[in-house]
Amino acid sequence: MKNMICSEEKTLLDALILMRHSKKNILFVIKENKKLCGVLSLGDIILLLLRDHGFDTKVSKILRPDYHVVTRKDNHARYLAKLSPEVKIVPVIDAQGRVVDYIESQKKVSTRVPMSEPDLYGEELRYVLKAFLSTWISSTGEYIQKFEEEFSRFCDTRYGIATSNGTTALHLALVALGIGKGDEVIVPDLTFAASINTIIHAGATPVIVDIEKDHWTIDPHEIEKAITSRTRAIMPVHIYGQPCNMDAIMKIARKHRLFVVEDAAEAHGAQFGKRTVGSFGDVGCFSFYANKVITTGEGGMCVTNSKKLHDKMKLLRDHGMSKKKKYWHDEAGFNYRMTNIQAAIGCAQLERIEATLARNQRLNKRYEELLSDLGCLEFQKTVAPRTRITWLVSALLTNGKRDLFLRKLLENNVDARPFFYPLSTMPLYKKYTFSNANSLAVSRQGISLPTNFNVSDDDILRIKSILKRHIV
Ligand SMILES: *Cc1c(COP(=O)(O)O)cnc(C)c1O
Repeated sequence: MKNMICSEEKTLLDALILMRHSKKNILFVIKENKKLCGVLSLGDIILLLLRDHGFDTKVSKILRPDYHVVTRKDNHARYLAKLSPEVKIVPVIDAQGRVVDYIESQKKVSTRVPMSEPDLYGEELRYVLKAFLSTWISSTGEYIQKFEEEFSRFCDTRYGIATSNGTTALHLALVALGIGKGDEVIVPDLTFAASINTIIHAGATPVIVDIEKDHWTIDPHEIEKAITSRTRAIMPVHIYGQPCNMDAIMKIARKHRLFVVEDAAEAHGAQFGKRTVGSFGDVGCFSFYANKVITTGEGGMCVTNSKKLHDKMKLLRDHGMSKKKKYWHDEAGFNYRMTNIQAAIGCAQLERIEATLARNQRLNKRYEELLSDLGCLEFQKTVAPRTRITWLVSALLTNGKRDLFLRKLLENNVDARPFFYPLSTMPLYKKYTFSNANSLAVSRQGISLPTNFNVSDDDILRIKSILKRHIV
């Protein structure tokens, strides 16, 4: 409760920052003598700011006299009477008027369970304000370099090049490697379309190959079969947090002298053996979209161990403008830069990434513990030497009722998502297909369940009852 108590001498900005840490969006305001003197909600603060109050307004200046309290002596009926859809939390005070606890309304069964929800409850707001107040709001500023250094260290790589999103990161990597017209790039059938689109944008020809049935990642045997004299690169995708078989892929790449661009947009921190994904290939590409493991709103990063590639990507990211001579261009580059404000969010997110990964892993385990006895869900596997992460809790529904399950979840206010359609099934990409049998089967059965910090056992049991009623 510590982060829910706010002195009336604090400013609205102090209050906002304090509120971030409790995740409750409400503060109990106290006087110097510790007595409760008001309740302040996030909604109150937003309204005050919109009505031209400054961030420096003292909390004591804006408190309203009408707030609810209860005491320990009150009975349950009185507790319930105080709670409503508008008032979800009410402080409990002692005889001296000091806050000793609070009561909170139970989540209703009908509340929506969202698929994902960014956790912005750390230093994000403070760092964004710092970036804002420094006036370095474009793509120069202290947070960019800090984020690049710290994220590349997290990936065990030497260099990080922050980009405007994960798609531009992939495109930047391909172009920096000189991949273009006449070149073939091998990509898995089961992935988000950004992977293949960037190959097409680079002017190269994608070659779609099948996935391994058990891991859902690109099949090294299929890669080998698809190689021609025009093959220049492989783009393994660590799908749904599962690392590809990087030993086999790097062996093939060395044997045939191919580049490797890892699409690690869904797998921050996953490992194959003792190494982190993104560090195996020539370049590893990440996304920080709002639903990814960590977010910067929109954003991405290329990581690499090659100084030469680092320099090339930096040049291309910034219009291809010569470093020695300003406004002199040796290459037709892009503007793929990340802003300092985005990087500020990224730095705050990165401080908690280990905790976020551990939390997602615990949630995945809880889903398995509570749902496995139904026998129709085959959860994503973790098989050594691959250490996957949980991006979205994902499973195959093996009784052929995946679409019905999705529909029933939606009807019951639970968000869920089907796996990606195999690229080979879309008319746009069909002509690039080399092989796709496992991808078709996995994609048809695959489902991702709500994965965010608010998902409770009750939510999982709600999903279980839907499964029991309609699916098994
Ligand atoms: C999210 C994602 C991307 C693209 O990242 P954006 O930041 O949305 O551009 C690329 N590949 C995969 C596999 C992804 O999941």
